[in-house]
Formats: sequence, structure tokens, C-alpha cells
Amino acid sequence: MSVTFSWDLPESERIASLWAERGPTEIGGPAVGTVGGVFEPGEYLREGYTITSRGCPEKCWFCAAWKRDGATARELPIRDGWNVLDDNLLACSEAHIRSVFAMLARQTRRVEFTGGLHSARLKPWHVDLLSGLKPRPAIWLAYDEAADLEPFRIACKMLLDAGWTAKSHRLRCYVLCGYPSDTQAAAECRLRTVISAGATPMAMVYRGKDGVEAEGWHAWARQWIRPACIHPANAAGDRRE
Ligand code: SF4
Repeated sequence: MSVTFSWDLPESERIASLWAERGPTEIGGPAVGTVGGVFEPGEYLREGYTITSRGCPEKCWFCAAWKRDGATARELPIRDGWNVLDDNLLACSEAHIRSVFAMLARQTRRVEFTGGLHSARLKPWHVDLLSGLKPRPAIWLAYDEAADLEPFRIACKMLLDAGWTAKSHRLRCYVLCGYPSDTQAAAECRLRTVISAGATPMAMVYRGKDGVEAEGWHAWARQWIRPACIHPANAAGDRRE
């Protein structure tokens, strides 16, 4: 079994003990610090997901990816998929990134970058590659702390200038909330800043090493997850894009 989040380990252990009656069963995955290897489509993740690189040089204090998979982007063999989960695709070499986009151009489904694209690394040639994908892909950026704001705004402007629109809800932004120095007023300010920059935010509540969210954040964050709650006047988004 591959387990992504450490807070799912108790339930995973329960399930593993049931499977153990049928055959050898082992728990691995990010939750137990397994270093990721070559990605096999359909193995542990649903069809359509792909991971073409692992590791990240940004070394964000709240993130386990670089601690587990390394502080450089390790390029892997490129396997087909339409939902790219790489830790930091834009930290890869130009040759790798162009090969990934060649693979994405073959896909019959709308491409999504739910692994996130790091705003500070977004260059005009990346935007050209993104714009070349039809239909227009769903892009996820991040605005977690004050230092992210300027690169995030620049990335939004580049993408809006290239044709992404706020009402399509296809320009999304993860916003980490509820970390030790955070307040709900400050988090709401970040979420509203994302909207004013032309993207649709999604609140991600921080969990410490123990996997526990600070009290009061879980219920508060619910209003900041689904686009239909964030933009009630345009709940469905613009399907023409
Ligand atoms: S940029 Fe993303 S993947 Fe990289 S360290 Fe920060 S949160 Fe983790």
C-alpha cells in the first residue's frame, strides 16, 4: 500500500492487516518517507495521473517533498497522463519540460497541473507551451507566504495576458492557511488577494508533524475550497474555455 499522508497511517494499518490475510502486504509511500522512484501509470494512483520528476530545490519550511525526494528536481522517464503531479516541473531542464509538453499534447483529456507550477520559475516560453495545449489546461499556482506574492502576481498577469480568465476557474492557487504564525484575518486577506489577481484560491490547512490542524481552521477553510462557494455568481465557471 502506498500512503500519501501520515495522518492516514492508522487507517492504512487497519486495511493492511486485512489484506495481510490474503498475501504479503507492505506499507510504503510518502507518509513513511519512501523515496519516490520511477513512476508507473496506474500503480497506486488513478489512471491519468503522471509524475515526470521528483524533488524540489525551493525547500519550503512546511513541505516534506524536498526532504523526502531531494532538494533538486530528479527527472524521470516520461509516462503518459493528463494530470501532472510533479513537485516542481519548472525546476527541470528545458529539454525535459519540452518532452513533457510533447507527451501532454497527445492526451485526449484537458491537462491539469495539480502538482502546482512554481510562480517564480514561470517564464514566457513556459506560457507559450501552456498556451499550445488545447483545451486550455487548468493551472495551479501557490501563495503561501508574503514572499510568494510578487512572483504570484507576475505569473497571474502572464497567464491572463495569454488568455486564461478569472471566470473560467482554470487558474487556481493553493493558499496554505493555519500555520503557527497565521491568523484567519491574514489568511482571508491572502485568499482575497488571489481573487483580485484573477485566480481562484483553494485553502490548504497546515498540519504539523502530528498531522493535527490547529483548532477552528478546518470548518473555516470549507468556504475557501470549492469554486462554487468562492464565486457563487459564477458557480459553474466558463465551460467555453
Ligand atoms: S515549491 Fe512546492 S514542492 Fe517545492 S518545497 Fe515548496 S511546497 Fe514543496
